[in-house]
Amino acid sequence: MGEVGRYLAKAAGQVFEILYPRRCPVCMGIVTPRGALAHKECTKKLRYIREPACKRCGRQILRLEEEYCSACAGREHSYLRGYAVWEYEEKIRHSIAAFKYHSRKEFADFYAAEAVRLYGNRIRGENPDVLIPVPIHRTRRAERGFNQTELLAARVGEALGIPVDRGYLLRAKQTKRLKNLNAKERKRMLLNAFSLGKGQEGRYHSVMLVDDIYTTGSTVDACAALLRQAGVEKVIFLCMAIGASTN
Ligand SMILES: [Zn+2]
Ligand SMILES: [Zn+2]
Repeated sequence: MGEVGRYLAKAAGQVFEILYPRRCPVCMGIVTPRGALAHKECTKKLRYIREPACKRCGRQILRLEEEYCSACAGREHSYLRGYAVWEYEEKIRHSIAAFKYHSRKEFADFYAAEAVRLYGNRIRGENPDVLIPVPIHRTRRAERGFNQTELLAARVGEALGIPVDRGYLLRAKQTKRLKNLNAKERKRMLLNAFSLGKGQEGRYHSVMLVDDIYTTGSTVDACAALLRQAGVEKVIFLCMAIGASTN
């Protein structure tokens, strides 16, 4: 791009910002100052995950002497470990709902920036070959216009210099909205919900799945199980929000 092109691109970006000002992912108000991704005061209202955290799923636990949260203790997961930015409570639930169902795509910038700020070094240390967004079915993607996890993975990948593969895992069939199902029903529903893209077996050794919300973990586990069957040795995940621990 030449000097004029760069000037025009910058001017276009500024016009876009005036027409469609960036909204705060917490209060939905217009973000100031320019260049910020959220109101600083608003971000303080979000419940960031802090240590001690479950060594498996990454959710915050209350008791320092515990290694695992009550959901992970005595339970096998197909993934090795996970990282979560926030505890899934009212404010972040509201934010992610606006992101997904009201196309506040710019929120992905904030979520990804916070994930990288908190876990960038650890994720680099895990050395994943690739980031794989948890897929949604193409019908749902068409309805929504985008897949929120692809946006998140793209932003995190750009920041950390890790490629993103959105064709590796596919959502094999339309599933009912999982939030209304219990754990057993979810598991059954998810058992055959995912498949691999054609000719993909054995391509990666180490993968980081990217998802927006981790509740029971059944979605991430179903994806991880499939990846492991396909020869991936290590599966970790990054999610934006994770359910609170009971211990
Ligand atoms: Zn705000
Ligand atoms: Zn856990």
